[in-house]
Amino acid sequence: LVLARPNADPPALAAVTQKLGNVTILVRPIGVAALVSAVQTALRARKRQYQIRQHLVERAQAEEQLRINDQRKDEFLAILAHELRNPLAPVSNALHLLQHGLAGQHRALGLVQMMERQVGNLTRLVNDLLEVSRVTRGELDLHCEPVDLATLVSTAVESSQPLITAAGHRLHLSLPPFPVRLHADPVRLAQVISNLLNNAAKYTPDGGTIRLTVRHEGAEVCIEVQDNGIGISAEDRQNIFELFMQVQQNRERSQGGLGIGLTLVKRLVELHGGRISVESEGFQKGSRFIVCLPAEQQDESLPATAALSPAWNLSHLEILVADDNRDAADSLGTLLQQFGAQVTIAYDGQSALDAFRSRTFGAAILDIGMPDIDGHQVARRIRAEHGRQTVLLLALTGWGQQEDIRKTAAAGFDHHLTKPVDFSVLLAYLCRNGARDRPRSAGAALPEAPSPSR
Ligand code: ADP
Repeated sequence: LVLARPNADPPALAAVTQKLGNVTILVRPIGVAALVSAVQTALRARKRQYQIRQHLVERAQAEEQLRINDQRKDEFLAILAHELRNPLAPVSNALHLLQHGLAGQHRALGLVQMMERQVGNLTRLVNDLLEVSRVTRGELDLHCEPVDLATLVSTAVESSQPLITAAGHRLHLSLPPFPVRLHADPVRLAQVISNLLNNAAKYTPDGGTIRLTVRHEGAEVCIEVQDNGIGISAEDRQNIFELFMQVQQNRERSQGGLGIGLTLVKRLVELHGGRISVESEGFQKGSRFIVCLPAEQQDESLPATAALSPAWNLSHLEILVADDNRDAADSLGTLLQQFGAQVTIAYDGQSALDAFRSRTFGAAILDIGMPDIDGHQVARRIRAEHGRQTVLLLALTGWGQQEDIRKTAAAGFDHHLTKPVDFSVLLAYLCRNGARDRPRSAGAALPEAPSPSR
């Protein structure tokens, strides 16, 4: 607002307007009401100007983001085409060989198995794509129920174990010494943990160390997956959870990944009412992904704090785990060790019996369908040699019909558990057994072992 004296020279006023640009000239004397309204009008105009400027800045940012997304989508399509071609090429070669009778009977079987593997890879890619599209459009339904976190961890470790073992990594698990319950979709949450474990295995040079730690903090449970791998720069950390985002120079490590795993993980965690964050001190300094979820209220019948945890301590117990599925046996063994148990693993029935001849176990967890000597027979021979009182025998099997339960009972098992086992149920059985021979620590209530039908 420029105030001019009365009778000001019009050319001089024009020169002022030209020099100052967007001004309003008020000639004195001016009434208060007129001055106030001129000021208000000027302020309103200024405010609109700011709004337009902000709008233009936001538009430029949105355009830039669209450009980046578009570029990422193009890169993604190129990678997708490449990843689809990878399994398609051997399948098409094998078909050619089979069609023209160029493979002998023996080789034909190998080719069919190879095609099956490659079709499996294709299916996985397509499923990942469908899944991420469903979750981003909000079409994915969770099937939540009370779940035991240790069971989830065990399922996730089981599915990631092959990748971890193949790269020669060491996996350390650290779980609270008491059961932690969540209200969650067990399949989806195991998928979250397993995805983070797989990434830790992929983006860590062979022979690395991966740590999975579960902490119960107030009303939250935090699951942390840490590796000592290639790390993530500060810049990449900002958009690591975005769709199709892959760190350019690490792409060859992604093992067929499409840059959608972490997006899926983040959305699934958020659907559970939780959050995920990432920490890394930079290149070659390892990474740490932290998932925090609301914890389910503690079941009053179970020990709620570490102070009551002696009831869940297995340090007095020697346990034999026998399963021909090595990953299942190893991951269960690792979990039991976290609770202090001394664990021996056998991958077949004969080794289980041999182990029993050389030492005394407090408990044995036996798979039923083992190829050489099945779990029923192993149980019968153990009972014949060691009697009923000394050892707790648990059948852990995929079969859960009444008839299956009757058979395991007849073979001498104490309890029948179906896979995947609810870890707190397993712990409850094992703790009870420990109390058979040992005096119980004062005040530490033993958990009631639930019925075998659970
Ligand atoms: P991808 O299929 O490429 O593995 P993800 O969405 O799972 O896709 O991960 C996105 C990117 O984040 C990866 O390409 C990788 O560069 C980086 N990343 C994920 N996890 C880790 C990790 N543990 N250490 C280092 N980089 C990681």
